[in-house]
Amino acid sequence: MAATVFHIQTFGCQMNAGDSAWLARSLRSRGFAQGAFEDASLYVLNTCSVRDKAEQKVYSELGRIARLCGVRRRQGITVCVGGCVAQQAGPALMRRFPQIRLLFGPDGIARAPEAIDRLLEEPSLRLNLLAFADQYEERAGVWQEGTAPASAFVNIMQGCDNFCAYCIVPHVRGRQKSRKPEAVLDECRSLLAAGTREVTLLGQNVNAYGLDGESERPDGAPFARLLRDVAALPGLSRLRFVTSHPKDIAPEVVSAFGDLEPLCPRLHLPLQSGSDRILQRMGRRYDTARYLDIVDSLRRARPDILLTTDIIAGFPGETEEDFAATLDMMRRVRFAASFSFVYSDRPQARAVLLPDKVERAVALNRLSRLQRWQNEASDQLLRSMIGKTATILLEEPSRRSFLSREAADKEGGGEVAGTKPDVFPGGKGTGKQSWQGKTPHGLIVHVPLPPRGKDGWQGVLLPVSIERATKHSLQGKQAGAPW
Ligand code: SF4
Repeated sequence: MAATVFHIQTFGCQMNAGDSAWLARSLRSRGFAQGAFEDASLYVLNTCSVRDKAEQKVYSELGRIARLCGVRRRQGITVCVGGCVAQQAGPALMRRFPQIRLLFGPDGIARAPEAIDRLLEEPSLRLNLLAFADQYEERAGVWQEGTAPASAFVNIMQGCDNFCAYCIVPHVRGRQKSRKPEAVLDECRSLLAAGTREVTLLGQNVNAYGLDGESERPDGAPFARLLRDVAALPGLSRLRFVTSHPKDIAPEVVSAFGDLEPLCPRLHLPLQSGSDRILQRMGRRYDTARYLDIVDSLRRARPDILLTTDIIAGFPGETEEDFAATLDMMRRVRFAASFSFVYSDRPQARAVLLPDKVERAVALNRLSRLQRWQNEASDQLLRSMIGKTATILLEEPSRRSFLSREAADKEGGGEVAGTKPDVFPGGKGTGKQSWQGKTPHGLIVHVPLPPRGKDGWQGVLLPVSIERATKHSLQGKQAGAPW
């Protein structure tokens, strides 16, 4: 019998990307085949409701699948919706889209593969796995040789206890539940044995790992201990973690950037606003002085560290003066990249009730000003890499192709979409293919390489000399032996 073809669409954060990767692996190990949207009969939408825009995209995708079920009269389609929209909308989502047969929340994903097996056996069955668990639910499955990615995400916790005023996460992902250190280490060992070389530890607030429900920090930080234990695993080349709440980052975690060799010199440290008044309204529990102290101590521990951040433009009550303070912080810290958004009301979040909502046009104008500033800073950073050598971890063939230097310059520089995939400038006729990888600082580099074995260049560490900067990435050429 032909295998059921499934198609997973992921919306939102890296937590969801990590969850989807696990679910795909679990379904493949149960005999399902992963395929394109057009070929699938089992659709999984792993959703995000952190921002209104992401939530609307989910509804539009559900509409597309509904049309596929109805207009084409395709039989036997199974639709499953997981993640934050499923948790937030609950069974009402099943009433609105009758094609949905399974709803699972972030805690229910561990049982989703088993539930999908049942749905296929019982065509009239509909299930929901939306209850929050008291403890982190372990997910079955070890990695097999040759199936592990070069760079893998490992969940260390679920949920969040912070209730920042604008955020829906504690409502839809539940309270913080940390995974046992041994379970995290076992998963890392399994990945490393199967070929992974880089691990990113994932959680909504990793700095609070192991402090579930604690209001006081015990001696030493459980997350710093975990970092040291993971960093010591044989076979690990690179270690990263995300996301860090500034109020919880412990001195031991800061100093780890100077002490732990595999720990990469890049940290995502959400600032959200550069105004102390707005930070207080947001309930972030740090101020700009504390944030700058952390930045100083990180740069003392690891002078070349790159910092990235999140910024919200137009939080309720934000004045032009508050926004100027945000721009000032961006200038002082010089972030390598920032993910910035216009504030939007999210159901259940406290900020919905705050007065002094900022007019959307004003918020959009602020967003574009800060993005313009950030683009220039990011651009300068990429250009400063030209002529340097860096070791990249190759992950996969480049997803986008590039025109030759001359042609790209004619187009005003930058990447040019829509050209034939995997052709590198000057690669025509050379038999070379463009591969992409990351420097320890997390910068993406494309490099032309000759064909190589069954897995190509995946998981190979390669010195490259950087020749060119494009809008979001770099291009280089091999500058040493791979290992
Ligand atoms: S720390 Fe704040 S912004 Fe981050 S997930 Fe928790 S509540 Fe949301």
